[in-house]
Amino acid sequence: MCGTQVTSGEAPERTPFGLNFCSDCMAEFEEFVSVTKGKKPPEVFWHNQEWLEVWRAWLDYRKAISAFVASKEYNLLLEELNSDS
Ligand SMILES: [Zn+2]
Repeated sequence: MCGTQVTSGEAPERTPFGLNFCSDCMAEFEEFVSVTKGKKPPEVFWHNQEWLEVWRAWLDYRKAISAFVASKEYNLLLEELNSDS
């Protein structure tokens, strides 16, 4: 999420959504899920409403990319690109 590339050497943290996070982002993601579900209050003061909104927006963005990659038009494009080569 922060843009840190998880190298293939170290096992990436996997979420149920198939997202890869570095350990810092994984910790934030887990807290985001807990706070969103109302299980616990944020552990640090700056995990405020705006912080929650950043995560919500980022997850929406990832969801939109996944939906696009899964669309038939996108796969048609890939087929066209492959048949050209
Ligand atoms: Zn990260």
